[in-house]
Amino acid sequence: MGGLRHGYHRAVPLYEFECGRCGARFEDLVRVGTETVECRECGAEGARRVYSPPAPEPRLVKTGGALRQQEARNAKLHSRTKQDFKAARRRAEARRKGPS
Ligand SMILES: [Zn+2]
Repeated sequence: MGGLRHGYHRAVPLYEFECGRCGARFEDLVRVGTETVECRECGAEGARRVYSPPAPEPRLVKTGGALRQQEARNAKLHSRTKQDFKAARRRAEARRKGPS
């Protein structure tokens, strides 16, 4: 039954908060959208919700196919960014030169 309990736990919005006064970090069950709560350690108001950084990618778990897909996506994004940059530069140069 461990799997069931685990699934239930994940469905509960458990957020991490950090107190600006004493620096305590704690987790609390709050309504979705709650940004600040009362600190559990010192009782100060305004302990702010901590947005935990995304977990590092489990590279070793990735299959070769998924990795290639990711690389293809990155390459596409990169070339698009480069194209946008070039287009913007061309427009800027055209503006600077003006109609000749
Ligand atoms: Zn505190």
